[in-house]
Amino acid sequence: MKEYEEVRSSLIEMLEDLDDRLGKIAHDVKEPLDKDFEEQATQAENDEVLDGLGNAARTEIEMVREAIARIDQGGYGSCQVCGQPINKERLKAVPYTTMCIKCASQAGR
Ligand SMILES: [Zn+2]
Repeated sequence: MKEYEEVRSSLIEMLEDLDDRLGKIAHDVKEPLDKDFEEQATQAENDEVLDGLGNAARTEIEMVREAIARIDQGGYGSCQVCGQPINKERLKAVPYTTMCIKCASQAGR
């Protein structure tokens, strides 16, 4: 799939960035809680936010990995719902998208 060589390398870059981000988040979550109770409550809230960020990053990593797999195995650039080719501009903006604009808007994403 020479056609998507460039997309593939930018996806791999994205994956590395996300792994990095996830590593930093994981590190922050592991910081011990402060003894002071109020501090602790704030810390717990922060952890929730960080957890949310972690989950978002994990979901994104999953999508990027799948996109790379689709480039390798074929099927990249086609809508997973209707099978129509995905608009090139859309692929550029969201390289790991699995749906064309029409299906994405119907799915509410
Ligand atoms: Zn579609």
